[in-house]
Amino acid sequence: MSLEKAGGRFCSGKRAGLPAQRPFPVIQKVVASMAHLQEEKLRLQEELLALQEKLAARESEEIAASVQLRGQVENLKANLREQAQEIGRLRSEMGGTDAEKHRDLLAAENERLRQEMKAREGELRELRRQQAACRDCTHLQESAGLQERLCQLQREAEEARAKLAELELEVQQKTNRLAEVELRLKDSLAERAQEEERLSRRLRDSQETIASLRAQPQQIKYVIKTVEVESAKAKQALCESQSRNQYLQEQVGMQRQVLKEMEQQLQSSQKTAAQLRAQIAMYETELERAHGQMLEEMQAMEDEKNRAIEEAFSRAQVEMKAVHENLAGVRTNLLTLQPALRTLTHDYNSLKRQVRDFPLLLQETLRSARAEIGQAIEEVNSTNRELLRKYRRELQLRKKCHNELVRLKGNIRVFGRVRPITKEDGEGPEAVSAVTFDADDDAVLHLLHKGKQVSFELDKVFPPQASQEEVFQEVQALVTSCIDGYNVCIFAYGQTGAGKTYTMEGTSANPGINQRALQLLFSEVRSKAADWDYAISVSVAEIYNEALRDLLGKEPQEKLEIKLCPDGSGQLYVPGLTEFSVQSVEDINKVFEFGHVNRVTECTNLNEHSSRSHALLIVTVRGLDRSTGLRTTGKLNLVDLAGSERVGRSGAEGSRLREAQYINRSLSALGDVIYALRSRQGHVPFRNSKLTYLLQDSLSGDSKTLMMVQVSPAEKNSSETLCSLKFAERVRSVELGPVSRKAELVSWPSQEQLEGDLPGSSGRGHASPSPGLPSGRSTSIRRKLQTSGKLRPVPV
Ligand code: ADP
Ligand code: MG
Repeated sequence: MSLEKAGGRFCSGKRAGLPAQRPFPVIQKVVASMAHLQEEKLRLQEELLALQEKLAARESEEIAASVQLRGQVENLKANLREQAQEIGRLRSEMGGTDAEKHRDLLAAENERLRQEMKAREGELRELRRQQAACRDCTHLQESAGLQERLCQLQREAEEARAKLAELELEVQQKTNRLAEVELRLKDSLAERAQEEERLSRRLRDSQETIASLRAQPQQIKYVIKTVEVESAKAKQALCESQSRNQYLQEQVGMQRQVLKEMEQQLQSSQKTAAQLRAQIAMYETELERAHGQMLEEMQAMEDEKNRAIEEAFSRAQVEMKAVHENLAGVRTNLLTLQPALRTLTHDYNSLKRQVRDFPLLLQETLRSARAEIGQAIEEVNSTNRELLRKYRRELQLRKKCHNELVRLKGNIRVFGRVRPITKEDGEGPEAVSAVTFDADDDAVLHLLHKGKQVSFELDKVFPPQASQEEVFQEVQALVTSCIDGYNVCIFAYGQTGAGKTYTMEGTSANPGINQRALQLLFSEVRSKAADWDYAISVSVAEIYNEALRDLLGKEPQEKLEIKLCPDGSGQLYVPGLTEFSVQSVEDINKVFEFGHVNRVTECTNLNEHSSRSHALLIVTVRGLDRSTGLRTTGKLNLVDLAGSERVGRSGAEGSRLREAQYINRSLSALGDVIYALRSRQGHVPFRNSKLTYLLQDSLSGDSKTLMMVQVSPAEKNSSETLCSLKFAERVRSVELGPVSRKAELVSWPSQEQLEGDLPGSSGRGHASPSPGLPSGRSTSIRRKLQTSGKLRPVPV
């Protein structure tokens, strides 16, 4: 499924192939220059528009400012005129009561100031509006100045108002006092007039009385004479007259007294009148002084007003001047902008011309570019063809070299791994290691068996301290070759407890070959993702008592059959074997867990069961080279074999015996197949066991096989270790070459035979009776040469 996807991707990759991805410099250049010209044109047009707009805005701004200033000047002039008229009017009105006039004047002045203030406020509002309209023009300064001036004028108006109130109060007081004095004066005058009248009346009365009295004595004299003449009667009358005269004289004296008093009163009245007059004169001088003071104040105020007007006028003139200067600046700006405008227009025209000519230029350039591109495509195609040819040749060469290398190395390699001594090995002399190593040769190990040291040479020996990583480093080349389409088998062989499962599966903290191989495959596939599409899938199976079971299937207990492909290709396949596609380490872990769970549920004693069955992890890597369409399929079979110990020999019965027989048979069959393959026999007995039959296509042809022989170093296991190492050496020592044909009918020794083939007993093993085995590759090669050309004898 993923391969189909991969195919799809491949096709699209090919369509969008090499020529389309190559840049065409001429077209790119032309397109770039066109875009550049277009951009330049647009930019210049925008610039022109912006300049024109700016200019218009500036002009309208300046005009508005000049109009406004003119209006201000006009206002000021009108104010001036008004003030002059007001002064004239006030001057003409100077006739009435001084205090009243002064008050009216002040009121008029106050009104005028109020109006002026209003006008200033209006101006201020206007200026604020203008300020909002044009933030960064010179009117800001003007506005600030005017505001300041307004404040000043407001202050002045306040002061004048206060002064006016003060003066009004003073005038009021003085008027009151004057009225009072006048009233008193009137009273005293009226009193005086009354007094004078009364006095003159009394004077007149008195004068009349005096006159009448003066006239009276002659009568009296007459009366006396008469009395003298007339006697007693006369005498009585005389007496009466005399008493009356007495009375009148008294009256006159009294009148004289009264007159005197009156005269005194008149004098005092005259004195009072003189005093009052003096007081009036004093009041009048005081009034005059107040009037003079008022006049002075008025004069001062008028002066001040004149000064303010003059100042406003001069400021207006300065402002006017500034406006004129501004106008002149704008005019010069306009004059300087005109050449820029001219150049812009010129540029614009030239650009227009270029744009007009551009299609022709473009067509021409396109023509030449097309030709160039055609040529380039042709070149690229030919280079491609050449490269493809070279690549194919290289691939073949690489494969050839690889095959050659494999041939030289031998495509069946045998490693030995000795596990460390564990607690299970017990304590004391039994737990002592019976295995020693050669310090100079990492392919040799020595086993002390029944007091004799036997030496074995394999392709490589891993001592107990070798880490999982070190082991994997040695096998990783095999793993990666599966990406190139090779089939690979890695077997872990050895007695139960020798470390097969540890090497293949490992622990979660320290994984073995299985997980590391898949991780490596993932990273390799990722690094090749630019050219290749890969799909990795896994199957997990088990062979127990020659029955093949799918550990990832829904029915793990079901026995699967190995069949020939119906397409006649001769390929084998297992119908119903589950194959999981994996893309990450997490997927692998899930698969392993699933397989493990199936294995556990299918048996009662897992440890025992696992040691009696072969566990297989089959990894299939399918690849597609997107550039060549080459498809590859490689299989990596990782097999944890059943324990190789000789149970049958220990008198086992029933199912244990059956199990032992199956294991024995299948391990012998594996040995036979490897032997037959290595010695290039015409017939390879794959069908002798389920295991070899299943792995047939992964063991034959270009396939590579690694046998990891696991050994326990414990002394008590030395017999089993010996058997395992013999198996290993036999597998390895089978020589390639023509001799193999002769060995066609030779079969691999059984487990029992291996056991019987003890070192020294037949003289055919490589056991060294003495510890003096020459170590190193040379010995091995010599031994191989000795073995070469001989039939591999079947030990009896
Ligand atoms: P087998 O699968 O051959 O029966 P195991 O892999 O189960 O043997 O190993 C048996 C014991 O020895 C296990 O406890 C395992 O952890 C331990 N063991 C095996 N090989 C090593 C090693 N190289 N390093 C440390 N412990 C090991
Ligand atoms: Mg095991």
